[in-house]
Amino acid sequence: MQDSHIWYACDEHLEYVMDDMIEEFHTAPTLEPLQSPVEHSCKWCKEAAEYQLELEYGIHEQTE
Ligand SMILES: [Zn+2]
Repeated sequence: MQDSHIWYACDEHLEYVMDDMIEEFHTAPTLEPLQSPVEHSCKWCKEAAEYQLELEYGIHEQTE
């Protein structure tokens, strides 16, 4: 069971990826610049990503 999601974006598509993430999870992710861009690719264009968008659950409590 995963309790966080991490998506990656290049500088150009940062807004697109963030909008997508908000639409899908209804929560704004935490934005962090990547230390090593070569390891990840942008969700939109598959080029080297420059940012990490991390979304952690905990704001909404899950009911069992
Ligand atoms: Zn991109």
